[in-house]
Amino acid sequence: LNPASATPLPTTAQTAAATTTTTTTPTSPSAPNTPPVPSVLGLDALFNNPVFAGGIGLAGLGAAAAFGRRALISGAALLRRQLLVNIEISKRDPSYNWVLAWLAQPRDNSGFLAQRLTRLRNLSVTTSTRSLSPRGVPDESGGGGGGGGKIHADFRVQPGFGRHIVRHAPGVYIAVNREKAGTATTATGEPHETLTLTLLWRHRHVLADVFTQAHALAQSFQQGKTVVYTARKMEWAVLGKPRLKRPLGSVILDEGVKERLVDDVKEFLGAQQWGYLLYGPPGTGKTSFIQALAGELDYSVAMINLSEIGMTDDLLAQLLTQLPEKSILVLEDVDAAMVNRRQRDPDGYSGRTVTASGLLNALDGLAAGEDRIAFLTTNHIDRLDPALIRPGRVDVMVRIGEATRYQAAQMWDRYYGDIDKDHSGRERFLKRLDELGLFGGDSQNPDVPKRHTSTAAIQGLFQFNKGDMEGAINMAEGLIPRTFEP
Ligand code: ADP
Repeated sequence: LNPASATPLPTTAQTAAATTTTTTTPTSPSAPNTPPVPSVLGLDALFNNPVFAGGIGLAGLGAAAAFGRRALISGAALLRRQLLVNIEISKRDPSYNWVLAWLAQPRDNSGFLAQRLTRLRNLSVTTSTRSLSPRGVPDESGGGGGGGGKIHADFRVQPGFGRHIVRHAPGVYIAVNREKAGTATTATGEPHETLTLTLLWRHRHVLADVFTQAHALAQSFQQGKTVVYTARKMEWAVLGKPRLKRPLGSVILDEGVKERLVDDVKEFLGAQQWGYLLYGPPGTGKTSFIQALAGELDYSVAMINLSEIGMTDDLLAQLLTQLPEKSILVLEDVDAAMVNRRQRDPDGYSGRTVTASGLLNALDGLAAGEDRIAFLTTNHIDRLDPALIRPGRVDVMVRIGEATRYQAAQMWDRYYGDIDKDHSGRERFLKRLDELGLFGGDSQNPDVPKRHTSTAAIQGLFQFNKGDMEGAINMAEGLIPRTFEP
């Protein structure tokens, strides 16, 4: 930049100097010796007047400075056009987040990290929180471990708004400008943002590297992981960090159910839009199964909870038209759309909510003919509008129910298979569950009430007694669902 941008400077200096010399001449000591020039208008007197001459001098100086500045500005603009490349990335473009992440990312140990981060003085942080386990049952998905309803927070540091200089390689600098784009706003009322990368024209080949690296980085974050999107205001947003793929083997449904579902989805994948309804009590593995299926197909999950406050027909329709690519749409608690909110809240609360017709319309509008898989879940099948169960909306309905003997045995093997070689522990455990009436009553003892337990509860019991079969058998009574009589 230097040699060229310096060009206008001497011009300014020279002009100013010249002006100064000219205007100071009349006031110089040699002035009285100058032969008088006849003048009708008496201009001599005027020019000989030191106050007037000084004024002209100042005006001349000002004009020269203004001219110089203009020359400098247009020179710089010309230079920028000639020597620099600008690339503007809109927030709406997927590469926006990749490049932001790439900018804040350590690359190697050759000192670039230090350079990169020390140059990025103005950082912004995005925090996403998620509950490790809503039911206090540690999640096997690898999404975090722990449990007890703890909240896990992820922090993502990115370059903040403003200008940054990043050293990409020795001698290669990238000027980054992250800014809110004018007064334009997104549908959510949030300002649009743009990221502008500026490089020297001769370094323009670096841009290809930047995007390739940023994309590779984004992919490496997702390798072996499942990205979960949720609705944030009127847009889809990634929920927390991508989670490790949940293995299908970790979800234990009743005999053959999982296999049939997976085969069906795979068979129809890419053929058309395909809707599944999973219904049954909570904690039976519906959500876990969808997560695992997404992992198996290498899809992401785009989740909307219809009972969420603020979810409206319009919002739902809009979200469904902009589903992230290669994602399974999950509409949780679809029964919520069938209940009139006012009816539900007698205290007069009239929060906006999705209506039955809104849900049907949104499903019909779901880009027909495209490669879409939708999973609807509900704990209350009886509340659903029969119009929902129609090819193109819901093609397959599967009840995911309370734990069966088959599931209890499978789960036992997953936890204690290694130490319970002769299966004697498993048989005692299953017998104990029979005695407690947990598979719908004990045929040996008709006096025992018929009851059921959930797979979530069994998983919780095994997780608590990891490596301790006797502990699990002794605590089996804890699987009896607690009922609260009014
Ligand atoms: P649902 O969606 O049916 O309410 P979830 O899939 O959210 O149930 O399950 C809640 C928790 O219980 C999860 O942490 C999951 O690991 C465990 N769980 C429930 N059912 C199963 C199952 N059938 N197989 C494995 N884990 C299960």
